[in-house]
Amino acid sequence: MGKALIIGCGGVASVAIHKCCQNSEIFEEICIASRTKSKCDALKEKLEPTTKTKIKTAQVDANNVDELVALIEQEKPDVVLNLALPYQDLTIMDACLATKTHYVDTANYEPEDTAKFEYSWQWAYRERFEKAGITAVLGSGFDPGVTGVFSAYALKHEFDEINYIDILDCNGGDHGYPFATNFNPEINIREVSANGSYWEDGHWVETKPMEIKRVYNFEEVGEKDMYLLHHEEIESLALNIPGIKRIRFFMTFGQSYLTHLKCLENVGMTSIEPIMYEGKEIIPLQFLRAVLPDPASLGPRTKGKTNIGCIFQGKKDGKEKTYYLYNICDHQECYKEVGSQAVAYTTGVPAMIGAMMVMTGKWNKPGVHNVEEFDPDPFMDALNKWGLPWRENFHPVLVD
Ligand code: NDP
Repeated sequence: MGKALIIGCGGVASVAIHKCCQNSEIFEEICIASRTKSKCDALKEKLEPTTKTKIKTAQVDANNVDELVALIEQEKPDVVLNLALPYQDLTIMDACLATKTHYVDTANYEPEDTAKFEYSWQWAYRERFEKAGITAVLGSGFDPGVTGVFSAYALKHEFDEINYIDILDCNGGDHGYPFATNFNPEINIREVSANGSYWEDGHWVETKPMEIKRVYNFEEVGEKDMYLLHHEEIESLALNIPGIKRIRFFMTFGQSYLTHLKCLENVGMTSIEPIMYEGKEIIPLQFLRAVLPDPASLGPRTKGKTNIGCIFQGKKDGKEKTYYLYNICDHQECYKEVGSQAVAYTTGVPAMIGAMMVMTGKWNKPGVHNVEEFDPDPFMDALNKWGLPWRENFHPVLVD
């Protein structure tokens, strides 16, 4: 079928690349390009004997638009799959515009010096992508990503109107470390130490970090504490789901994680304000990242399951209805298959599927779009086929 250029070669990219290599009919060729080329080369060496996909590697600084443009012109991919960090979203989108190449990512843009994540910066490219005749798919991971596809599917097949969405992200995995993050520590800590917020009756309601706590009994995981967080898909779903009254996002955290995080915050280690240390300017959170376990190394140690999904409440044929769509994923099974834990797996698989949707033309809508703006059906089929089968419950326990 075609060729994808994958930017980044960390935890999430590694899973997406494994999955592209299992799907050689679509991904006949891939080029893996990242800041540290040796990581791309090591993955190529591991995967080449197992796949028909032709793999190339390259070094690129994704903060540099000229370098990206030169690489895209050289490789001529059908799509660029951005699996670097949210800081690089805009430079990669600029390069896609300059070369008229489709774009897919998993996380919305964040300026490096402000812990603020929202879609406005990327939505500002809508008209330019439309004029160039190219499609950008934003947020094709699990959350955002599958949660948006679940919402579009629920609206298409189960409801006339959705009024309430609760997104529940449960990681019941244990890696045995007192403190480690399951994906990039810098991005993860910025996300969970920010104020929480949810969407209600047409506006944002802001909360203090971890102010709202609920307990939920997750299938195949058990009872967990979960906390309300701000999360980026709330912003796009509030626009794209007509009739919506409230959207909340909850994530589970263990007490040890929260105690460590509080302590690190209290001593200033999670700050993104530069400080001088022995004559050199450093950012405490980046230093912290350097001493924490690399999320990519958690695979062999993590045991347990993730359970992530959405509980919908709304109306069908004039009657009130509830519906829960979710996926359960086993950390050790993921490790056996692709050498990564389930948090990277549940993000990397939908990233591959998003790129596949664009390459096959199933999702082709020039402009900049969030996943829920496309037909969910081929994506839902692909989830079942490529390792993230979904389950339904028509009588779920609701979150108060
Ligand atoms: P990692 O830190 O493991 O990987 C990031 C990769 O990007 C690394 O290979 C890194 O290179 C590379 N990179 C960073 N800066 C540059 C640059 N300037 N130029 C080129 N390459 C660069 O992160 P994860 O794999 O954990 O996360 C990847 C993305 O996935 C993030 O945007 C994250 O927010 C998102 N995500 C989305 C989720 C979802 O459900 N939607 C869930 C989890 C993550 P190097 O190896 O040199 O460091």
